[in-house]
Amino acid sequence: MPELRKDPIHGRWVIISTERGRRPSDFVTEERRSAGGFCPLCEGNEDRTPPEILAFRTNGTPPNSPGWTLRVVPNKFPALRVEGDLGREGEGIYDKMNGIGAHEVVIETPRHSETLATLPLKGVESVLWAYRSRIADLRGDQRLRYVLVFKNHGVSAGASLEHSHSQIIALPIVPRRVAEEIEGAKTYFQYKDRCVFCDIIRQELQQKKRIVSENRSFISVAPFASRFPFETWILPKIHYPSFEHMESSLYGEAAQILSDTLQRMNRVLNDPPYNYIIHTSSFLELENDHYHWHLEIMPKLTKVAGFEWGTGFYINPTPPEEAAAYMREVR
Ligand code: ZN
Ligand code: ZN
Repeated sequence: MPELRKDPIHGRWVIISTERGRRPSDFVTEERRSAGGFCPLCEGNEDRTPPEILAFRTNGTPPNSPGWTLRVVPNKFPALRVEGDLGREGEGIYDKMNGIGAHEVVIETPRHSETLATLPLKGVESVLWAYRSRIADLRGDQRLRYVLVFKNHGVSAGASLEHSHSQIIALPIVPRRVAEEIEGAKTYFQYKDRCVFCDIIRQELQQKKRIVSENRSFISVAPFASRFPFETWILPKIHYPSFEHMESSLYGEAAQILSDTLQRMNRVLNDPPYNYIIHTSSFLELENDHYHWHLEIMPKLTKVAGFEWGTGFYINPTPPEEAAAYMREVR
């Protein structure tokens, strides 16, 4: 059973994997794992993953066999486990609990060479529907407080498998970084009586300096205080606190702007490694006026080093206004 341990100074939690303890030599070979060879996520290799939790299939094909366009399976090496209770306890001054949660993999396409940027729009939309459906399901588990949906694309962004996939991790706590962002939005709301994200959208649409692209219901924008070069956020223009509560008709438009933004990024930066993360409300506060779900994309172009670790702030060599201009002009 993995363990959640709380740092007594910062209050941040870490997951200590007790059963897949890695030795020093395991870290050296990490980079080589994705190169060539067998892929458990490809169509035809369904028996090499744990049984599917959700799949979009052509009519009549049985579970865990070919004939799918998207599958969700439990992670074979989960960071957290579904079974058991939280077992909160103290050990002297330290707090810990069992690593309860869910860790799932969304296999976005049956084809190995396809990426989210090259998938047809329908395919990108099904990825978003799969997120929605899994979040809604995990919300039913009383032990869980937050669901993090993220994607690592490319080895240097942390992807251990080349095949296009994203991950869903449901946690028994609200992570500190998420809580800080929600708190910040709440403070702004208490002061101004407006959602900070709605205000950002309004101002960005007026100034047009940092807009990357736009459709009827979404904008894609390089944030004013971007931490990384070409960091890009996608936000719904309408105030929705949680990703899964958005009106059904909007997922198609969300897919359109995500696909468009990734394609622009590919053109400007030649298929860069990247991470994206969906920022959404916690299970404790699904409806509220102060928080506004969005998706943050961070291409991995610089390395986080000593200064960033020491201070918690970042040096970004590309002004967001310039990054947005490059991205706007490529199509
Ligand atoms: Zn594959
Ligand atoms: Zn808002």
